[in-house]
Amino acid sequence: MNFWRTLVDLLLPRHCVVCGAELDSTEKDLCNVCLCRIVPVTWTSATDNPLLRIMWDRHEVDAAGSSFYYNASSDYHKIFIAIKYQGYPKLGERLARLSFPVWNALGLGCGVDYIIPVPLAMQRQLKRGYNQAEWIARGVAASMGIPLCTDVLVRRKSNETQTRKSARQRQENAKNIFLARKGRTDLNGRTVLLVDDVVTTGATISDSIRALREAFPTVRVQIYTLGWAGER
Ligand SMILES: [Zn+2]
Repeated sequence: MNFWRTLVDLLLPRHCVVCGAELDSTEKDLCNVCLCRIVPVTWTSATDNPLLRIMWDRHEVDAAGSSFYYNASSDYHKIFIAIKYQGYPKLGERLARLSFPVWNALGLGCGVDYIIPVPLAMQRQLKRGYNQAEWIARGVAASMGIPLCTDVLVRRKSNETQTRKSARQRQENAKNIFLARKGRTDLNGRTVLLVDDVVTTGATISDSIRALREAFPTVRVQIYTLGWAGER
């Protein structure tokens, strides 16, 4: 046991982001009870599942997967709030590193050349200090040994927060917000794994794919999100 960690915990107790219980020196941001109770997504195919189906009428996507169920009324929603707004991006990295190998065994990530996190607008990233999707993508990259690509896809406008919008408003709000820059990494003929923290309507990821295909018509796309709030 780390003496200094124990001492710091005594002086400045840390708390579980889900249940609020005091953490011991071996726990990072979730207590072991909450970690064990996370509800995993149990889809058995990377090429036919609810996430892939919400993309089918919009874009050709080769494979998709998501690790954990949550909904707005469950305590596990707090994980995604913590990752996004409360300065716990490393929790996203750790959960992705732990859970992605399950999807990899189902074929997600196979043949992928680059991992691309869905970007934040520059203004929002400067304010928040990090992009939560990039930390989740780092966890995937570490478990797969595939490079991140963060210089191609950019968010050109800072759309308003999606939290209180209806599904239709979210879809309208997410149109034409991304741009893929040519002249950097050439993605034609390559396969990319797009990574985001959560997906609800799929509008944000859909617009990311539109932007990538406008710049690189022959890019192939797979999708991974840490959280899934849709049908089981
Ligand atoms: Zn807990």
